Amino acid sequence: MISAKSKFYIIGWGIAGLATAVYLIQDWIINGKQITIYDKAKRFWWALDAKDYEKKDGYVMRWIRVFEETAYTCTMNFMKRIPVLNKHHKNLKDNYTKFNNKNDIYFESRLIKNKEVVDAKHFKLTKSDRLKLFTLLVTPESKLDNKKIEDYFSLDFFKSNFWYEFCTVFAFEPWHSLVECKRYILRSIHSSQYFDTLEPLQITPLNQYESMILPIIDWLEKEWVIFETNTKITNLNIMKSLDKKKVSKIFYKKNNTDTEHEIKVSKNDYVFISIGSMVSNTTLGSMKEAPVQNLEKKSVAWTLWENIAEKNPEFWNPWNFNSQINKTSWISYTITFKNPLIKELIKKYVNKEVTTFGWSTIIDSNWFMSIWFYLKPYFKDQDKDTTIAWWYGLYADKEWNYIKKKMSECNWEEILTELIYHLWLEGHLKEIIKTSVCIPCFSPYVTSHMLPKKSTDRPQVVPKTSLNFAFLGQFCEIPEDIVFTVEYSIRSAQIAVYKLLNLDKKVTPIYKWYRNPKVLFQAVKTLFR
Ligand SMILES: Cc1cc2nc3c(=O)[nH]c(=O)nc-3n(C[C@H](O)[C@H](O)[C@H](O)COP(=O)(O)OP(=O)(O)OC[C@H]3O[C@@H](n4cnc5c(N)ncnc54)[C@H](O)[C@@H]3O)c2cc1C
Repeated sequence: MISAKSKFYIIGWGIAGLATAVYLIQDWIINGKQITIYDKAKRFWWALDAKDYEKKDGYVMRWIRVFEETAYTCTMNFMKRIPVLNKHHKNLKDNYTKFNNKNDIYFESRLIKNKEVVDAKHFKLTKSDRLKLFTLLVTPESKLDNKKIEDYFSLDFFKSNFWYEFCTVFAFEPWHSLVECKRYILRSIHSSQYFDTLEPLQITPLNQYESMILPIIDWLEKEWVIFETNTKITNLNIMKSLDKKKVSKIFYKKNNTDTEHEIKVSKNDYVFISIGSMVSNTTLGSMKEAPVQNLEKKSVAWTLWENIAEKNPEFWNPWNFNSQINKTSWISYTITFKNPLIKELIKKYVNKEVTTFGWSTIIDSNWFMSIWFYLKPYFKDQDKDTTIAWWYGLYADKEWNYIKKKMSECNWEEILTELIYHLWLEGHLKEIIKTSVCIPCFSPYVTSHMLPKKSTDRPQVVPKTSLNFAFLGQFCEIPEDIVFTVEYSIRSAQIAVYKLLNLDKKVTPIYKWYRNPKVLFQAVKTLFR
């Protein structure tokens, strides 16, 4: 029974943990003081990262995140809950809508080959792969357990424009999960005719850390939620209680010491646990050096789940996701161009005023690199002449076309050189390099949730046996939802609160566009265009 003395322990202040606190306060109407959020980090910098680098010399983020209004129902509703102190806007969603109404994203150079823009409108799928796509969409997930995308489609499929456009936006590689691929196609079916232009995509006015995370934290602090920084939750004591299970103790270590402390979880307390992590063990390089790979010790985000799963096999299988770094890692780069020259050059390239340039994928680069330039300030304190770009390569272990090295071996100058050559800007190479900062970032587990899996590899958000705990984030199972999204983490928070506390409220449904005959007709037309 929840009482005024109940305590709510949330492990992790990623968007999933923060959203859990918001739902608890707004829907159950508990006092913020009853909630404590623990995180191993000292500051709020996790999967929704973005920050200045070494005293604003340059900026760092792992990605420019994109949303899509009709596919992100939970995120859109959630943003309406967060008030902003601005006389023009009531909440985060108002801010977001106003910005996106004014700033269309239109990518005229989705695919680039031989330094020319490719006609990306035609998917160039073979008849048999088209048929396979249809068959996949009607095959039950139970028949696709552990299957890889490459086990299913022909080799031609991986040379089609469909695959180039699909895999670079959603970060799929051929060895990833066929179930996840099916879920993504179903979720994006209503926008398939825009795969070549990405028109429906939307972005937050600034990076997501400043546009989303900071206002949420601001609101939670005003509600008196307690934040415990630099606190690693190392283990949980989960005990049987008749045919159910409950967390009775939380073990933690603080401020990088080895002393373990414990919290006693009382009868009316609840525990919300972020498990696994796509960004753990991430390391940054510098202008002079590639990132040092930090693979010796798994982060506590993984070991906590391993410790729980060892004693409670129904909450397994973290090892499916965290033991194949060669299949889950990436290096991405943030470039800060301090010279307005790059903006001028891009304007000439696209021949009009644009907010963003990209998402462009260079399909003849060995590395398969994709780039996005953000031509308006993307950080609050950013100089107006500065341009930020973000880019990544899906095939990090191949040698580059111009610089004959692997991605992981290159310093910033080599990285920029490769990019500038592909964009046909080599005449300006020296000047661009002299006035830019490029920071590489290595993330060993970044696509770990995309690995082939069985439905039982991830625990349900609220397991059937749970009395007082729920799981949060990208590694719990939410039927039909797609991982690698903010949407998934926020929905996990909503399910956790509503289901665990037995609230008479409906979780925001996933919109099933594939049930709409008009959408289906359009999708088929697009496949054949
Ligand atoms: C490169 C990249 C690009 C992305 N692009 C998009 C995009 O375009 N669109 C989109 O919607 N989404 C995108 N995402 C996904 C989105 O950012 C994530 O799904 C989401 O932010 C995950 O939030 P989370 O709270 O579940 O997990 P995290 O952000 O990983 O937060 C988990 C938190 O829990 C803490 N924690 C975990 N275990 C413990 C423990 N035992 N003790 C103490 N602390 C612990 C961690 O320190 C961390 O702060 C992208 C992600 C990345 C990395």
